[in-house]
Amino acid sequence: MRNSGNLLLASLSESDIAVLQPHLKSIHLEHEKVLFEAGGNVTDVYFPTGAIISLVVGLSSGETVEAAMVGKDGVAGAFAALGGNLPVNQAIVQLAGPALTCKVSELRSVALQSQSLLSALFRHEQTVYAQASQSAACMAAHQVEARLCRWLLRARDLAATDDLQFTQEFLAEMLGVKRTSVTLHARTLQQAGMIKYSRGHIQITDVEALQETVCECYGTVKSYYQALLGPQAA
Ligand SMILES: [Zn+2]
Repeated sequence: MRNSGNLLLASLSESDIAVLQPHLKSIHLEHEKVLFEAGGNVTDVYFPTGAIISLVVGLSSGETVEAAMVGKDGVAGAFAALGGNLPVNQAIVQLAGPALTCKVSELRSVALQSQSLLSALFRHEQTVYAQASQSAACMAAHQVEARLCRWLLRARDLAATDDLQFTQEFLAEMLGVKRTSVTLHARTLQQAGMIKYSRGHIQITDVEALQETVCECYGTVKSYYQALLGPQAA
């Protein structure tokens, strides 16, 4: 389990992992699969080991905007096991890949036996809240280009690759901007040699330059995850 590929699980104590492990099942999450709906009932918890899950806010216009990104450094749906089965976001798979899953009821019964597991799950939920709060500030105060860099760098950290499979439509949805705006800024980043963009595929070609262009929110969120997981955070 230390090598499960999920950093939150890897950060747990041997005894917590020992009781949790029999409940975890390996699955593959498909792109755009909805794991739970805002206001719905969460039945399963997901610890991504390669997949990336977006927690999004849906508007009555049909638009969706990403509040937080959960990957190998976290878990989606654990709040339901902590007694708060009131999802405020839709959870949708943004990058297909593997994950470990267990039933909410199973995670709850295991967590109720362990103060350290309960505490790790609470701290994780606080970290997701901190990430969502940062997203709200980022959207209000920072330029689209810097936000696009933030999104690409976080996706790169979680996917552990410079090759990201995302369409401009999807990026526009996640950033809460028009597609033409993403096209414009992706072109600027491409002309500056930071990314190469082709249909549905973004290759990061100059990470240092992206890190210089990104807003402070990228580093702030990274520091929250380092506080949660230690230096091995994504
Ligand atoms: Zn920002």
